[in-house]
Amino acid sequence: MKRGIDTLIPVLGDQLSLGLSALRDADPDTSVILMMEVEEEATYVRHHKKKIAFLFAAMRHHAQALRDAGWEVDYIRLDAPENSDSLTGEVARAIERHRPARIIATEAGEWRLRHAMELWPDKFGVPVEIREDDRFIASHAEFDAWADGRKQLRMEFFYREMRRKTGLLLTERGEPEGGQWNFDKENRKPAARDLTMPQPLSFAPDALTQEVIALVADRFADNPGTLDGFDFAVTAQDAERQRAHFLRYALPQFGDYQDAMLTDVPFLWHSLLSPYINCGLLDPLDLCRRVEASYRAGHTPLNAAEGFIRQIIGWREYVRGIYWREGPDYTARNFLQAKRPLPAFYWTGQTDMHCMAQAIGQTLQNAYAHHIQRLMVTGNFALLIGADPADVQRWYLEVYADAYEWVEAPNVLGMSQFGDGGLLGSKPYASSGAYIDRMSDYCGHCRYDVKARTGPKACPFNALYWDFLVRNREKLGSNQRLAMPYRNWDRMDADTQRALQAQAKAFLAGLDEG
Ligand SMILES: Cc1cc2nc3c(=O)[nH]c(=O)nc-3n(C[C@H](O)[C@H](O)[C@H](O)COP(=O)(O)OP(=O)(O)OC[C@H]3O[C@@H](n4cnc5c(N)ncnc54)[C@H](O)[C@@H]3O)c2cc1C
Ligand code: SF4
Repeated sequence: MKRGIDTLIPVLGDQLSLGLSALRDADPDTSVILMMEVEEEATYVRHHKKKIAFLFAAMRHHAQALRDAGWEVDYIRLDAPENSDSLTGEVARAIERHRPARIIATEAGEWRLRHAMELWPDKFGVPVEIREDDRFIASHAEFDAWADGRKQLRMEFFYREMRRKTGLLLTERGEPEGGQWNFDKENRKPAARDLTMPQPLSFAPDALTQEVIALVADRFADNPGTLDGFDFAVTAQDAERQRAHFLRYALPQFGDYQDAMLTDVPFLWHSLLSPYINCGLLDPLDLCRRVEASYRAGHTPLNAAEGFIRQIIGWREYVRGIYWREGPDYTARNFLQAKRPLPAFYWTGQTDMHCMAQAIGQTLQNAYAHHIQRLMVTGNFALLIGADPADVQRWYLEVYADAYEWVEAPNVLGMSQFGDGGLLGSKPYASSGAYIDRMSDYCGHCRYDVKARTGPKACPFNALYWDFLVRNREKLGSNQRLAMPYRNWDRMDADTQRALQAQAKAFLAGLDEG
């Protein structure tokens, strides 16, 4: 039997964890949890249809899990007639309904919502307690303590701190297992087609999810991507099944083939867990402990276990730290002053460049592409053509089921587009077609010739790569890690240089004409 409502606890779409900080020590008898599907969140960028369907379906199932755990949940569906379409509007309406004495929330994952929540106490005249999101391994204070006073914020050193903090893959003497912190050099094998690859699990939508899919098909018909074949896990239990499946069948070879790409093989040995980790269905530290246990049980080699754990307690935590430390204007940076709009084929996949058609086509189909497709294919191309980083960020935020600004922006603006001038990466991830050829079978299926630099069949990445370096020499010329390519350029004869630049210019003009 409910006593009066004392506490209103808004739970956002990426806070789908039973152990969320806002719920800790709250009394289910005097609290009500508010969950909201609102137009504002679904439309601030044009999210992939599968991304919206995944999040709404996961939210609806999480509401059920909370109720099963004894909580009262006030759930506002997108099509509820009085839905005010904004989070703040829905909190205001919930205050009218429940008259709580206070609000407790877990901090939002991005600046836009953080600012909105900061206005709540004045707006509502109710005390608002915002708690830190402790599903991350490093607190804001810990990241700042690590970063303060350092000239360069390199992921590798932060990662070692996180290894020490968690004790993951350390010997009893506190040293890294295998005598080194990082086995990345062993993780660069191209994959061969005849290897038996694991298939990810597929989760058939239940009635609740089907309802959401119909809603999204109706309300977001013009958004990118397709709903066909929707098979995401939408409960913690199913996300745990995908985790167990990955640990058993894919993790042992995750390291070796982490950077590989194959035609029509979208997932390879990747975990596909990022949407579940990022919305709260899986706990990142728990996942890493299971990976470590798999290594200690002799099921997973060290290069795979270390490689995977580094992505989570290293890269994932590090980009989050950078996002909050650099402030809300981080996303507006444009070190290279790149201005070209993103070509229209990013929304269709219709291009003769086979690597791009594969990466974009799979993205539109699955709301997923793996790291190297994002970084070295679509990201690399956008960087080479000088695409506006704001446009590029918007695209990545729209099309991936795991995309939230805190993780997308540093990866796109910092790592991929060098828009922060080298805060996150020591050099731009720019490359000619040779890298794609080495790590994939794409070039064998392409109408372009990856070995040719000029002429009608020349791989566009080749001339664009040199043009990128020449165009940005003032800003990049003193970067020690680019000294070799600039030397190579200077050694080319003038005719070759002219031909490469003319090739790039003609290609870019073709892009601009559409
Ligand atoms: C341009 C670009 C944009 C990206 N945008 C996003 C994004 O919006 N959301 C997102 O979660 N990741 C993003 N990433 C990182 C990475 O590509 C995805 O996390 C990964 O592809 C997700 O697939 P997976 O779960 O199969 O990953 P796996 O390859 O199996 O890796 C394991 C886990 O490590 C974590 N991880 C790996 N690399 C990173 C990274 N660089 N940053 C943060 N976490 C990482 C993820 O949680 C991932 O699930 C981006 C990378 C690039 C280069
Ligand atoms: S030849 Fe060039 S465009 Fe074609 S797949 Fe290879 S890298 Fe991509």
